[in-house]
Amino acid sequence: MSRITELIDKLEREHILSKNELTEIISGHTPETDEYLFEKARAVREKIYGKDVYMRGLIEFTNYCKNDCLYCGIRRSAKGAERYRLTEEQILDCCETGCGLGFRTFVLQGGEDGFYTDDKIVSIVTKIKEKFPDCAVTLSIGEKSRESYEKFRNAGADRYLLRHETANSEHYGKLHPKELSLENRMRCLADLKGLGFQTGCGFMVGSPYQTAENLAEDLLYIHDLQPHMVGIGPFVPHHDTPFAEEKQGGLEMTLLMLGLTRLIVPNVLLPATTALGTIHPKGREKGILAGANVVMPNLSPQDVRKKYLLYDNKICTGDEAAECIACLGRRMESIGYKLVSARGDYVK
Ligand code: SF4
Repeated sequence: MSRITELIDKLEREHILSKNELTEIISGHTPETDEYLFEKARAVREKIYGKDVYMRGLIEFTNYCKNDCLYCGIRRSAKGAERYRLTEEQILDCCETGCGLGFRTFVLQGGEDGFYTDDKIVSIVTKIKEKFPDCAVTLSIGEKSRESYEKFRNAGADRYLLRHETANSEHYGKLHPKELSLENRMRCLADLKGLGFQTGCGFMVGSPYQTAENLAEDLLYIHDLQPHMVGIGPFVPHHDTPFAEEKQGGLEMTLLMLGLTRLIVPNVLLPATTALGTIHPKGREKGILAGANVVMPNLSPQDVRKKYLLYDNKICTGDEAAECIACLGRRMESIGYKLVSARGDYVK
């Protein structure tokens, strides 16, 4: 029994450790202690969600954004980004295709694009819920006022994803322009939870200037917020950003964060992200084996896929949604898991 495995046991029992203890795991983990953690993380997720892997159909409906986050390939000043917006009809077509393929969750994701007023978002959500009443709608459209979130919730939106990116305000300031603040990001997440959304936060692993303590702070914040979903992916640089030359985040550290998150919030819906699949050919399988239980294939029309590049070398930008599902289905089967057609709500 090593010090690290003792701490993992304690985390499994108590669902929280001190910042120092979390930092100790992050700095001292080895392939052996990782395997010890992943085995526990799998057991916890299987007790709650079995071997099912939920799929979310991602519809990237606009790559316009008023913000200038330093790591992002569609930031306002990314001159190379070819901008596009999908019409309401195109979005509904994506849902139609997705529903036929077995998707029961649609994730509408976009930059913070003023073109889509609250009324437009409400109209889109209302129509999706009318046409596909057994499907969940997730929004991922950034920071808004509580009033706006409330309108979306009243229109029937079920879930909202808003990564916090880092729970340390100094670090937050190094990744974002000065008009964005961690305080407001956390206010948004608290509002979303308060309004009854299944709420998702999340962060990048290996982002510039990130320390082991910062990662420990992310985990402590997750424990405090008790989100329903957590998106964790490696930082992958984009050539058209100030972080173009920065080092990519590591596979092992990302997997470690997935495993620890599963023990901290056992019931969480945890995606094995596309970014994880981008940095390693078996990244998503490894993510599931570290405790994740969600995948997010792309349902955006094929002609816009290559334009929604938050980072370089993104996978699956050329495949049909149907091909993506078949491929993911095989990948999940190869590790003993099952891609299922279900809403995949948070289990209390
Ligand atoms: S990370 Fe989101 S808010 Fe920031 S620039 Fe990119 S799309 Fe906009």
